[in-house]
Amino acid sequence: MSFVTEFDKLPLAALVQRSLTASTQAARASLGKPELSLDDFAHLISPAGAELLEPLSRRSQRMTQQRFGKVVRLFAPLYLSNECINSCQYCGFSRDNPILRVTLAPEEVRCEARALLGQGFRNILLVAGEHPKFVSTDYMSRCVRLLHEEVPSLSLEVGPMETDEYRPLVQAGAEGLVVYQETYDRSVYATMHTAGPKRNFEWRAETPERAYAAGFRRIGIGALYGLGDWRLEALSVAAHAAYLLRNCWKAQLTISLPRLRPCAGEFQPLTHLSDHELVQLVCAFRLLFPDVGLVLSTREPAKLRNGLIPLGITLISARSHTEPGGYTGAGKDNLHQTVRGKIVELASGASEWAPQPNRATNATGQFNIADERSAGEVAELIRKLGYEPVWKDWDAALTA
Ligand code: SF4
Repeated sequence: MSFVTEFDKLPLAALVQRSLTASTQAARASLGKPELSLDDFAHLISPAGAELLEPLSRRSQRMTQQRFGKVVRLFAPLYLSNECINSCQYCGFSRDNPILRVTLAPEEVRCEARALLGQGFRNILLVAGEHPKFVSTDYMSRCVRLLHEEVPSLSLEVGPMETDEYRPLVQAGAEGLVVYQETYDRSVYATMHTAGPKRNFEWRAETPERAYAAGFRRIGIGALYGLGDWRLEALSVAAHAAYLLRNCWKAQLTISLPRLRPCAGEFQPLTHLSDHELVQLVCAFRLLFPDVGLVLSTREPAKLRNGLIPLGITLISARSHTEPGGYTGAGKDNLHQTVRGKIVELASGASEWAPQPNRATNATGQFNIADERSAGEVAELIRKLGYEPVWKDWDAALTA
């Protein structure tokens, strides 16, 4: 049975209601259990559970240290392309946004990767919008093959593909696949995705299964908080993770908890997940899934990230750029503007081309980041908290 079939049978509305009406006693009882169910998770993320944040975070911290040790892995996103054929209301790359776009040539991608290697990163996430013409399987394979010679750990966050399209990417050296459902609320999903292949909820939701069948050894999932009701999203992610742990058990699973950030198009969040609730959510996920990696990106401000690291986070990004060429300026001579998917020539003196202070390229980013500290500063902070920053935890030779 696929995840979608199972998901459609899930009593989501009842679970959300259970969470909203849970008593403090019910939340406390769930907090004390050695193994948690989805009902217990609903109790922990309830308004009543919010009052137990201190014991919840203490248990989450203890459990994370027992399972993962006092280490935090670091990674960096590398944007290959901001071309996209989808219309996602909340994303700066949405095809309707008249932004400056570019797809990096494989040699330019290598240049960006070398800049990240120079900062210490050994774990790189290749990110691209969905555009079969620019970001084809062949293009992706060439990029992965080239980088695999120098980067120990490569993961992908690109448009969903068929299992047979993923296989050459795994063979070329990609080991991880990240795909967020964005929202598990079908009606919100339909409103947010108005054009392009991403309109297909099922196709996206079954992507982790196809990726696993193709041989990826790390799978990342998550919801984008700010679209649907956050408890409904969290319960759905939990159900999805439970399904993958049962059916795709050879892969390592990670859950990300991204919250919406300002971006081109100026979309305003539909719902709100507060800082306090984000902390509650991280800790509740840890208790439900003791061995699942929890990911935190530079979408969150420095102070909050500092506080979250010891509570359950195992993988963190630093000094991220969300525009292609952001680390070195690669590709800046090939920029073009698109309006509703069509390339529009800009006058050579147009303000969009004027160099912007502190930026390597004028290509538009996917969203604004909130934590701008360097990789070295984040590593130092991790050390100060008593943890070890881990740049490399895998080498292709281990599978040879
Ligand atoms: S979220 Fe992804 S698919 Fe949607 S517009 Fe942005 S890059 Fe394209």
